[in-house]
Amino acid sequence: MAVPQSPKEFLDLVRRSQLAGDDRLRSYDPDQFPTPRVAAQQLVDDGILTNLQAGLLLKGKWRNFIISGKYRLMEHIGTGGMGQVFLCEHLRLGRRVAIKVLPAERAGDRTSLERFYREAQAVAALNHPNIVRAHDIDTDGPLHFLVMEYVEGANLQDIVKRGGPLDVGRAVEYAVQAACGLQHAHEAGLIHRDVKPSNLLVDRAGQVKLLDLGLARFFGDTSDPLTRRTAGRNVIGTADYLAPEQARDSHAADIRSDIYALGGTLYFLLVGHPPFTTGTIAQKLMQHQSDRVRPIAEERPEVPAEVSAIVMRMLEKDPADRYQSCLDLIDVLLPLAPEHVPPPSSNELPKLSKAAMSFEAPSGRVIAPERSAVRSRPESDSTPPRGVPRPASGSGRTAQPGSGSTPRPRFSRRMFLAALLGGGGVLVGTALGRLFFRKGPTP
Ligand code: ADP
Ligand code: MG
Repeated sequence: MAVPQSPKEFLDLVRRSQLAGDDRLRSYDPDQFPTPRVAAQQLVDDGILTNLQAGLLLKGKWRNFIISGKYRLMEHIGTGGMGQVFLCEHLRLGRRVAIKVLPAERAGDRTSLERFYREAQAVAALNHPNIVRAHDIDTDGPLHFLVMEYVEGANLQDIVKRGGPLDVGRAVEYAVQAACGLQHAHEAGLIHRDVKPSNLLVDRAGQVKLLDLGLARFFGDTSDPLTRRTAGRNVIGTADYLAPEQARDSHAADIRSDIYALGGTLYFLLVGHPPFTTGTIAQKLMQHQSDRVRPIAEERPEVPAEVSAIVMRMLEKDPADRYQSCLDLIDVLLPLAPEHVPPPSSNELPKLSKAAMSFEAPSGRVIAPERSAVRSRPESDSTPPRGVPRPASGSGRTAQPGSGSTPRPRFSRRMFLAALLGGGGVLVGTALGRLFFRKGPTP
């Protein structure tokens, strides 16, 4: 349908989209609004539509809000080198999930796709409070997407961009939590390869969660790791945190490359910028290979020398000179982390539209997202303080960060194969594609 020209046409589109029932729309008199845009804003303010839904309806797009028959599209929550991320509602379970849509041209290559499914399977087997959980992997027409736990929070890149460098204790605490998540992944044989501030989310309670585990390998293996194409655009991957050995040869990356990238991330949290900031990507890569990192004290003298020394060791050029495992790193960082770190303030957290904050569960019950998230936390989250399985203070290596969790595969090989083979045959609709990725007439 064409772009709505009047408030009445707009309300008709909302009705046709089935995003709101007649009963909720009946009270709106089209004549009360001067333009379709004002009507849309009112429905957003009243918690009937999300910003994303209103924006699409204003463009005349009223179909395909249900992805793969299961998820209602709610809000756009991120764009990155690895695709677009949407907040969706799982219709049957009445809970929120995050859906990451893979760049279409990657999904067209069967080898890449098979590798991606293999990686996703490995990631799905991880179960750790500091790693974003993968729930499912699915298709909608030609598009492949990953369904993840939705983390209501902000990534560390955005938090620092908005509010400046973090309190030292807070930065150390976040690094410890990230290291706990990484340790668990490393124990399972996975290297992250793309640790950076935007891949670390902090939720409302102050729990850090690693994003995008395993995806970097999928992208890095067959292409230049620095240039990724997303939906036809060239997106420059970050050179800001890439370990020297990984930049030389992505296959040379090991767990110590993740430690380097986490060192760069901690440096960023403390001073507000990555270790090297000037020059082109190629020049930055060269600086990672050979230049000295500017000491933290030159920019922020109040950072304790022990903390700076740890960051510098994480950023050693030669992997042999770094901490050799996240466990070693946690051993030295943990004693420097404060007992209590306040959770993120409300202005650090993204503002969702009202409709995305609460929605109708199948029973008609209104789910308050915060509470449902707390209820659904696995037991392993609640044991250690702040949700982090950590070695007890002073106990050295006796407690393993990974030991608080119980790896439990979530997908069977058969399910994955069925999904993979079904990519060509059992098409489940092309909702996302039509909404976002196809050029041409609107539906
Ligand atoms: P990047 O290339 O920066 O890593 P991504 O495509 O991985 O970009 O994600 C972009 C942003 O989307 C993330 O930085 C984060 O803010 C948001 N995001 C991704 N996954 C989730 C999730 N599961 N829950 C909440 N927000 C998410
Ligand atoms: Mg990411």
